[in-house]
Amino acid sequence: MPNICIHDKIFTPFLNAHIIGEKVDALARQISQDYAGKKPLFIPILNGSFIFAADLFKKITIEAEICFIKLASYKGTRSSGQVITAIGLDIDLFNRHVIIVEDIVDTGKTLSAFLPQLIHQQPASLKIAALLLKPAATQFPVTVDYTGFSIPNKFVLGYGLDYNGLGRNFAEIYELLEQ
Ligand code: 5GP
Repeated sequence: MPNICIHDKIFTPFLNAHIIGEKVDALARQISQDYAGKKPLFIPILNGSFIFAADLFKKITIEAEICFIKLASYKGTRSSGQVITAIGLDIDLFNRHVIIVEDIVDTGKTLSAFLPQLIHQQPASLKIAALLLKPAATQFPVTVDYTGFSIPNKFVLGYGLDYNGLGRNFAEIYELLEQ
């Protein structure tokens, strides 16, 4: 696979479509096994997770539901600080087995700010599936229960992930070529 140029930056191939596909299949097998009889509710976070979530969900072999959400962040009052709300979450989480689906967990800030709101709804369980995890970037405590790949602390795109709006449509994942 050749390097690609997106906006002003060069990206080099990092994970090919075959390797990603095998990993997604393995995650789906594991989740299907772990959640048999529990009718889990998948909650993918848009936009970045749309391709991962679709590929993962296609391979789930048990009864399951899916509800895509988008997070909106705004400055709250001084005491509440940054507030994150979920747009599109129209299913009651009470007593449900919830699996958040993320493209990438970087610092962990987004999820650590958002998860308490979900926990407030008293789901029966709450776990996180992330295709990519950057362990070296972690600043906020988030436990990722199903990880595709642990990757170095580099900017990546493709397979749903973008750089300033572009690059989501690549079937492979590329990393930024530092020059
Ligand atoms: P966190 O809150 O964990 O720092 O960041 C999570 C979000 O930041 C991800 O859902 C993703 O949208 C974005 N992000 C973090 N690292 C990368 C990266 O390497 N590439 C891209 N395209 N987005 C990233």
